[in-house]
Amino acid sequence: MAKTDDILLALSRTIPDCIESVGPFKYRGKTHRLIDNFASLQHTNCDVCGNDPIFDVSVIRSEKGDRLNVCNNCIDQITSRSVSSWFKAYRKKRENVMENRVYIDGLSSILAMYERNELPFEISSKDVEVLRKTFVQMCNGLDPLTKQKQLVDCYLDFLRGEQKIEGQKITS
Ligand SMILES: [Zn+2]
Repeated sequence: MAKTDDILLALSRTIPDCIESVGPFKYRGKTHRLIDNFASLQHTNCDVCGNDPIFDVSVIRSEKGDRLNVCNNCIDQITSRSVSSWFKAYRKKRENVMENRVYIDGLSSILAMYERNELPFEISSKDVEVLRKTFVQMCNGLDPLTKQKQLVDCYLDFLRGEQKIEGQKITS
């Protein structure tokens, strides 16, 4: 499995815990629980305030099984927790990891090759440190600085170039 897929899987496994940690809460005198949160692609309105349309939807369920779709403001109010910002942060992380897929998987290979002394080019220990730091940042869903990305691009190009030459040697 590619490193990026590993990270995305680990990230998605934090959702049930977050949903569970909200615990039961009262809404209109009845006990409810948060059961889901998703980014809606269909037209959805908030069953609590009527806000329409809503894009981030929290689904709550009463003990009787009635389900309600709830907007960000309302879910934070009725649970007295910052549920919406947790999910916003989660989505942003996920988005960043997916956007940086090429960098994350590339760096994962470069750093592994470096550890095994298998890199087909020279790299300074200073650059290795920058690459490691950038890799950790990206794995944590942060978006690195442009100059960090440029350095990664440079080494990814080296690696592609070397692999191309290797390929030509084998085929010719
Ligand atoms: Zn609402």
